[in-house]
Amino acid sequence: MIRLSNVQKTYPARRGNPAHTALHGIDLDIAAGEIVGVIGRSGAGKSTLIRCINLLEVPTSGSVIVDGADVTKLSKRDLPLFRRQLGMVFQHFNLLSSRTVFDNIALPLELAGATKAEIAAAVDPLLPLVGLEDKRDRYPAELSGGQKQRVGIARALSSNPKVVLCDEVTSALDPETTRQILGLLRDINKRLGLTMVVITHEMAVVKQLCDRVAVMDGGVIVEEGKVDGIFANP
Ligand code: ADP
Ligand code: ADP
Repeated sequence: MIRLSNVQKTYPARRGNPAHTALHGIDLDIAAGEIVGVIGRSGAGKSTLIRCINLLEVPTSGSVIVDGADVTKLSKRDLPLFRRQLGMVFQHFNLLSSRTVFDNIALPLELAGATKAEIAAAVDPLLPLVGLEDKRDRYPAELSGGQKQRVGIARALSSNPKVVLCDEVTSALDPETTRQILGLLRDINKRLGLTMVVITHEMAVVKQLCDRVAVMDGGVIVEEGKVDGIFANP
């Protein structure tokens, strides 16, 4: 579903900072339906990697194939359509405070020009899926952190993507809520057969959620394999 081949990303020099290569020739294959964790300390290159998949950054060289297409070769015009195939879930939820739960989840569909009927057909089934049927008309300020992230997850699913990219999605949550959100993501992966890329700096997240893990350090993948294999006790 996703294949990165020899992906390099060099940020150009600016504001007196020298140019910096954040990714040094990354190779990574992610099969359809798989949940792959990308773990590493701050500065390892995890966010850059995810931004090279959703094309918020264009790789300096190398190719990024998503569902058969080299996304680095997409025209500006095709980018919005491509991004709709990717759901993004964020650490700080990124909800709009002036919109209800329903309207936050509907936002990507609205931006894509969907009709009211199409929006209702897509959003209504997502509310029970993420356990928010009774919060439909609430505002973000009325929700707990875990509920806000459930909205974030539903919003990521609203355009029916094949791939969901999760960026430190439990880092702002307490341990019990983290456990619930990871369980929800696992459940959604099983039910919908989605491919997930999960960025985290926490081993516990990888252990609970992921099938496979890539460990990054200094812009390279230093270790990769099945979660059981990598974390097996010696
Ligand atoms: P922001 O308010 O989003 O930090 P900036 O213009 O200061 O806006 O930075 C743009 C982006 O560059 C940010 O996402 C920042 O995290 C990122 N960045 C990270 N490390 C560096 C670096 N070493 N040099 C320049 N930009 C960096
Ligand atoms: P992580 O997500 O693992 O913390 P990042 O991908 O954010 O790592 O950063 C990898 C390296 O690239 C860091 O050294 C960071 O400072 C640098 N970096 C990230 N964004 C930018 C940017 N926009 N401009 C320059 N350097 C950046």
